[in-house]
Amino acid sequence: MDQAPVRRIVIAGGGTAGWIAAAALVKLIGPLIEVTLVESDEIGTVGVGESTIPTARTFHQLLGIDERAFLRETSSTFKLGILFEDWAKQGDRYIHSFGQIGKSTWMGDFHHFWMQARAEGWGGELGDYCFEYQAAKAGRFAIPDQGHINYAYHLDAGRYARFLRGFAEPQGVVRVEGRIERVEQHPETGFVTALMLASGERLEGDLFLDCTGFRGLLIEQTLQAGYADWGHWLPTDSALAVQTASVGPAVPYTRATAHEAGWQWRIPLQHRVGNGLVYAQAFLDDDRARALLDSRIEGEKLIEPRMIRFKAGRRRKVWDKNVVALGLASGFVEPLESTSIHLIMIAITRLVQLFPFGGVRDGVTARFNAMSTAEIEKIRDFIILHYHLNQRGDGGFWDQCRTMAIPDSLAERIAAWRDGAIAWQASDDLFRVDSWVQVMLGQRLEPRSHHHMGRMIVEGELQGALGKLKSDIANTVAQMPAHQDFIDRYIAG
Ligand code: FAD
Repeated sequence: MDQAPVRRIVIAGGGTAGWIAAAALVKLIGPLIEVTLVESDEIGTVGVGESTIPTARTFHQLLGIDERAFLRETSSTFKLGILFEDWAKQGDRYIHSFGQIGKSTWMGDFHHFWMQARAEGWGGELGDYCFEYQAAKAGRFAIPDQGHINYAYHLDAGRYARFLRGFAEPQGVVRVEGRIERVEQHPETGFVTALMLASGERLEGDLFLDCTGFRGLLIEQTLQAGYADWGHWLPTDSALAVQTASVGPAVPYTRATAHEAGWQWRIPLQHRVGNGLVYAQAFLDDDRARALLDSRIEGEKLIEPRMIRFKAGRRRKVWDKNVVALGLASGFVEPLESTSIHLIMIAITRLVQLFPFGGVRDGVTARFNAMSTAEIEKIRDFIILHYHLNQRGDGGFWDQCRTMAIPDSLAERIAAWRDGAIAWQASDDLFRVDSWVQVMLGQRLEPRSHHHMGRMIVEGELQGALGKLKSDIANTVAQMPAHQDFIDRYIAG
């Protein structure tokens, strides 16, 4: 492995991944490095990726990004979770909210109390005990002066990249416009030494970040790092993306509506709605997919639908030699739980933590790769869960998802939930217990039993405690403004 000190960073690609990486590097370790980003207007970006999870907020705080300026310039809205429609069965609806549900104890998680109540014939819905769930359902939003709300953003992908560019360039990132035509490698080590642009310009570097999207120009086309294909677990491989005019006030959640061979997203922004149909070509051809999208979108189309092909999976080595792949170049689970932008943010944060100032060496790259693999495999399991636990009786795609063999790691979770309502957040697991619980229940996986800790409480006390939790949440939500009103007021402030 090359042990030359690392100072010159070249970022190939200026989509969401490239600009997130540039912004983070220059802000967090800028004085120690030089950052150059090359992007090609001719090639463009994937143009989707507009729903995030709450870690985006933490990342913005780390970079010192002003939230109001971000919301104004990217036409973002707030997101409290995802509304799943027609997933377990047609007509079903549940929200996977970002909130904490009730109050857990050392003995067990809150849902065991709720299951006790339900077994006794009272207790309502689990979502009654979650503030973010109720706020989402009511279409309300506010950032309280005191207390806490766990939220993320819906953002305009194009504007977000421009916003980050406006953040990164004044701090020293050098942007080069041009098409990379050739990647130069060291004849002995195979390390990348420079990128040759169509203009004839040569960009030398010590460390290269491959943010070139699905093509993986450096990590795959040059280094052939390999790809673990998860198509047998996640058979969707195509998307039709379209932007439409808003037909009503923006809701504070993403909508994910299942259809015969996949699902449809609706992401409300301040100025428009992001829409798309995700589907498996093996079960729905492109013409039928177009017709299905047309029949389901609300609002005037602002652009013609764009086709995107993808392959669910992960790059076998996201860091190979002196190339680190970020974003779509590093792998793609599928957009159902909006995890890709999170993976970019966590990867660049990890790179800063493990930064190879003294030279690229195996021990560090192995650690980076192991952490990245563990993380994306857990996300993969969570996504498969939504597809696998279905009772839809409408044919091929859903039948295949229900009957397919699943990873052992997921089978173990499903068994623990089915047998004892046990859910957990493992280390490296992005999704919290409440996320697993909401989706397993939402997908109609009913446990055979639960912990009886609720029966240890004096009669009446559990009823009182749960009743108070529920009414406190309802009262707080009733006083919150409508989501759109809050945005208007907040960005003006
Ligand atoms: P791209 O946007 O493809 O950017 C690649 C960049 O590389 C471009 O700037 C391009 O010009 C440049 N480039 C490529 N080749 C060359 C070359 N030869 N020379 C110079 N420059 C070059 N993520 C979420 O978090 N939430 C979501 O809701 C979500 N929805 C999605 C829906 C779909 C259908 C898909 C496919 C993805 C979705 N994602 C989502 C993922 C998200 O879109 C990406 O993670 C994110 O946009 C990052 O993309 P990227 O920057 O890696 O690639």
